[in-house]
Amino acid sequence: MGRNTFKGGIHPYDGKDLSKDKPIESFKPGKLLYYPLSQHIGAPAKAIVNKDDRVLRGQMIAEAGGFVSAPIYASVSGVIKGIEKHRVVSGDMVDCIVLENDEKYEEAEPINTAKLEDMSRDDIIGVVGKAGIIGMGGAGFPTHVKLSPKDSDAIEYVIVNCAECEPYLTSDYRKMLEEPDKLIKGLSIEVSLFKNAKGILAVEDNKMDCVELITEKAKEYSNIEVLPLKTKYPQGSERQLIYACTKRKINSKMLPADAGCVVNNVDTVISIYKAVVEGKPLMDRIVTVTGDAINNPKNFEVPVGTIYSELLEAAGGFKTEPKKVISGGPMMGMALFTLDVPVTKASSALLCMTKDDVSEFKQTQCINCGRCAQVCPSRLLPGFVADYADAYDEEMFLKYGGLECVECGSCSYVCPARKHLAQSIKSMRKIQLAKKKK
Ligand code: SF4
Ligand code: SF4
Repeated sequence: MGRNTFKGGIHPYDGKDLSKDKPIESFKPGKLLYYPLSQHIGAPAKAIVNKDDRVLRGQMIAEAGGFVSAPIYASVSGVIKGIEKHRVVSGDMVDCIVLENDEKYEEAEPINTAKLEDMSRDDIIGVVGKAGIIGMGGAGFPTHVKLSPKDSDAIEYVIVNCAECEPYLTSDYRKMLEEPDKLIKGLSIEVSLFKNAKGILAVEDNKMDCVELITEKAKEYSNIEVLPLKTKYPQGSERQLIYACTKRKINSKMLPADAGCVVNNVDTVISIYKAVVEGKPLMDRIVTVTGDAINNPKNFEVPVGTIYSELLEAAGGFKTEPKKVISGGPMMGMALFTLDVPVTKASSALLCMTKDDVSEFKQTQCINCGRCAQVCPSRLLPGFVADYADAYDEEMFLKYGGLECVECGSCSYVCPARKHLAQSIKSMRKIQLAKKKK
């Protein structure tokens, strides 16, 4: 095994050809935008606007609800209609600020006007927090918290997750091609916060055009390296990425900082640049609208709060009635039963497929083939762990390392018995993690 990969993993059909050559288009949303107060891990944001208030694009409409939280900004100018329950990607009805778009796109004052060279470490982290930046690879952890580990001198690697290993997603790929300077400058700002750190841009080797481009752009930075990784799912999973880049292992009891690492996604790093250098808070998100059921797959820059159904329309609607619609990628995304849900800071894709492998095939008996164990990147025995989860045997689930699952879905993907292994393990993990929190 080489330096730049991990044990296990799978090679699913990647479907990226559908949208990888489509440049990012700026999307103009419709009349109403919905901003869930909780778009991140941690305390929900607190609304600071009232019904009938006029707000500008880039104006804060909800403040952070604590240190582990993130403020929310209006992504269009318009009038606040109130706070209402609205459905979100998870299927839950949650409190959302509703904003009526006046289609003038008038902008608020920048959130930072200080020059980078005059800013201290605390100033930079303060601006990142104020900008409402969170992990945009899916987890949604507030970035200013990641940038404030207990011992900043112990951080040796600032890794940018440029793997984009989930099939069909091309938003990070387009960002790397279209905004490489902002990506590298954003990383250099992050690296400057840790005196013993170097930066790594970790890119799967199915994106060699990106590797070449950012290697050229990064030449002037002696403390930034571009590292091609073997193309394999789930290469972008945080633990697998850290291992591939540094050979350091972390488990469910550790944070990346415990292994001397900070990991951020491409869009998060570009958002750091935009906040610190351009004074722009996080208001937009790149969303790939794709899948074999879509007429014209595209990559859009979408104001947060936009309703998914508008994106579908802008991509030409359905070519064929889809069997499955997913927010995110096919391996780790969430199945949607309605498109009347808003894009959040953590959204990455709207995937519409003409086949649904999960409901098309029935589960049968395990044939003890061992394939699930061979591909599990956490080196678990997923067949056993899932059985313990289904039997609600907490002791054995924990003993067999259920908490170490990274919920990548590789085991379910290869299982010839079509057992819903990852689904069972994920449900039990959720219960066990909630118990631990209490
Ligand atoms: S057990 Fe978890 S980590 Fe292992 S393959 Fe299945 S989903 Fe992935
Ligand atoms: S892959 Fe499926 S059939 Fe094979 S051992 Fe695992 S659970 Fe059993």
